[in-house]
Amino acid sequence: MSFDSLGLCAELLSAVSARGYAGPTPIQSQAIPVIFEGCDLLAGAQTGTGKTAAFALPIVQILGETVPTEKRRRPRALVLVPTRELAAQVSDEMNGYARRLGLRSTMIYGGVTIQAQIERLHRGVDIVVATPGRLLDHAERGTINLSRVQFLVLDEADRMLDLGFIDDILRVAEYLPEKRQTLLFSATYSQTIKKLADELLDNPAKVEVARRSITADGVNQAVYEVEKSRKRELLSSLIRTGGWNQVLVFARTRYGADKLTGELLLDGIKAAAIHSNKSQSIRTRTLAEFKRGEWRVLVATDVAARGLDIERLPHVVNYDLPQVPEDYVHRIGRTGRAGEDGVAVSLVSREEQSLLQAIEKLIKRPIPRQELAEFPQYAARRSAGVREKKLAAGPAGSKKKQAKPQGKQQKAPAAEQAKSAPQKRKKAVMQRPAPKTGRRGQRS
Ligand code: AMP
Repeated sequence: MSFDSLGLCAELLSAVSARGYAGPTPIQSQAIPVIFEGCDLLAGAQTGTGKTAAFALPIVQILGETVPTEKRRRPRALVLVPTRELAAQVSDEMNGYARRLGLRSTMIYGGVTIQAQIERLHRGVDIVVATPGRLLDHAERGTINLSRVQFLVLDEADRMLDLGFIDDILRVAEYLPEKRQTLLFSATYSQTIKKLADELLDNPAKVEVARRSITADGVNQAVYEVEKSRKRELLSSLIRTGGWNQVLVFARTRYGADKLTGELLLDGIKAAAIHSNKSQSIRTRTLAEFKRGEWRVLVATDVAARGLDIERLPHVVNYDLPQVPEDYVHRIGRTGRAGEDGVAVSLVSREEQSLLQAIEKLIKRPIPRQELAEFPQYAARRSAGVREKKLAAGPAGSKKKQAKPQGKQQKAPAAEQAKSAPQKRKKAVMQRPAPKTGRRGQRS
């Protein structure tokens, strides 16, 4: 299938080809016709499947067909996302399309001053990409007029619910016109997602694309079983011996992310941390620097990493396993994006075995274990300090201070070793809804 056959206009065809998209991904080829038809949509698709373009392209095309005559435009499409990072990513892609059709798109999120956002809204916009809390703030202050919204998109709805945005979403919905098209994207279908869908969607078409974690296409997963106290040394070794140059490392806590970053820096590996304790401007700058290759390692917590779009990211490391198995799926979705191959490595301590089992149960297959050969410690590179003293005191398994790398170095997991037998991609399912008979009466 081609983008052309989906009915995209010439401007958008040239926009997708400028982004290097040769043809639509499964979620795009299924969702775009549904949106053009005017149906509500319930889409099971996780990040990395091309879901942003799946809603952005048809929305921009439809809005571009009627250029508003009023001087100060009011938003006609509202995209709600869970995090500031995802807002930036979605807004960037949305802008790229909107610009081509003379539409204006803006981004609204918390943690920054509200004044600049008020001014932008006042000048008039067609599309708003927003996090729910700040958007509600604008709605309540009357600094955004949502009465013309034709499209409501809930992107990564499961994550918005995880982050406690349910009430904000429902309250935002009260400001929207009853007659509108609502598109809900979620990686998982919980009972709460179903309830939210019942509340906000009207007889939606259902589209589902295979979850990458289950098919594991394009992501070579591997587990290293290692003592907690030696994880940092193993990580440094994997990065050095494997020649990994762009690595996203997940830590469970903000404190852990900062600590690991400091240790990697001491090991001579350029690393930066990104988490919700950092200001938005620092997060944005660090991410841009990482994308440009100025940092070899970006250490992130789950919330901060959600929605990060780093094309062709080759390596993801779970330094700590996530407490919620679904987060493993989101994390490894950072690599092997859109058909590229990637490696996702988990460093698993004895204490984390039950978390590993829960993940394997979720993804319905075991993750290949990598043999743990000798790997060097990098304490020798440190200036004398606390960490060295700690090493000298030595947890079981650690070597003496200043020891030289010994024996065979740990090999980076070869793609072939870790690659599992390709499983059949779950066939995408789409159920067409009955023709629309009008929206359900009372909402929320
Ligand atoms: P998303 O699921 O929207 O987060 O998209 C994930 C990645 O897929 C982004 O890096 C997009 O640039 C890329 N992408 C989206 N659509 C396509 C396509 N049709 N062909 C190739 N890459 C795509």
